[in-house]
Amino acid sequence: MHSPIVFTGRVSDAEAREWIEALSAALPETPVVALADADPQGIEVAIVANPDPEVLRGLPNLKWVHSVWAGVERLVADLPADLPIVRLIDPELSRVMGEAVLAWTLYLQRDMPVYARQQALRRWEQRPYRAPSDLTVGVLGLGHMGRTAAGRLKQAGFHVIGWSRTPKAADIEVYTGAEGLEPLLRQADIVVSLLPATPETRGLLNAERLNWLPQGAGLINFGRGSVLDIDALLVALDRHLSHAVLDVFAREPLEAASPLWDHPGVTVLPHISAPTHVRTAAGVVADNLRRWRATGDLPPVVDRVRGY
Ligand code: NAP
Repeated sequence: MHSPIVFTGRVSDAEAREWIEALSAALPETPVVALADADPQGIEVAIVANPDPEVLRGLPNLKWVHSVWAGVERLVADLPADLPIVRLIDPELSRVMGEAVLAWTLYLQRDMPVYARQQALRRWEQRPYRAPSDLTVGVLGLGHMGRTAAGRLKQAGFHVIGWSRTPKAADIEVYTGAEGLEPLLRQADIVVSLLPATPETRGLLNAERLNWLPQGAGLINFGRGSVLDIDALLVALDRHLSHAVLDVFAREPLEAASPLWDHPGVTVLPHISAPTHVRTAAGVVADNLRRWRATGDLPPVVDRVRGY
């Protein structure tokens, strides 16, 4: 039997129990316990969901943490710079995100926001059909989420282009770096952001860049809220953008006073585009732990300078 692995996070008791059960099932050779039930001296690895950084600082022999979430900006900001952070990379999570991106892209392609508004006004008015092949979808961020989403969109017949920090070999046209953003946005009928929250991506979609989008373009933000300047978005919706589907916000939950809630050009979603699946995530964590125990090799860790 191996030394215990702890789970810690600022989640409900029921969620914590669910994680400990799933991790215990995935790691039958290892006791998995709540942090409060473990000897702090014996803890080398902590599995975390939005943990309290102070609690982790109290573990003298902690070697690395494995987050069960994909976004790690809070851990990057709060945890000691020399503590390796492994984030969740789960094919099931990417699949669910790809499904969400396809669903909401189809929502915009088929003009569903317009028909919902028309129904409320009892208005019978048919709009011309736009085929997926007539629409260019620009995917910002071609990581685990972005690549899967781009694949689903391409399969559905959309013309897909993408943007990342570094060049990529891909079967879509890829734009790279600061100079690649303008040509991508200028041709995107729908732009999908799957970018992480980093110092470089903060406020990236600002007034100037939103203006690069063509007349009638739609926007989907499923990456992180800090990437999009909401004041600039509201102006752009009055000018040339048709609709925005937002699942992530700089502050969550979105405050009740936000103008986004009842804006006719905005769909607000409560951060549900790709929820972590506890069972598959526990399997990913278990595989990573076993590999580390067998070889001493950590899974790919978050780059603390890049921020993702
Ligand atoms: P990832 O594999 O790390 O990919 C991030 C992508 O963004 C990479 O392609 C990276 O470029 C690109 N990128 C980062 N900074 C950039 C910059 N300054 N300029 C251009 N491109 C940049 O991350 P992932 O697993 O795909 O996840 C992406 C984000 O989705 C997460 O960080 C998380 O915040 C969010 N997410 C949201 C939900 C939800 O339910 N809404 C669920 C899961 C994840 P390179 O390839 O060149 O490095």
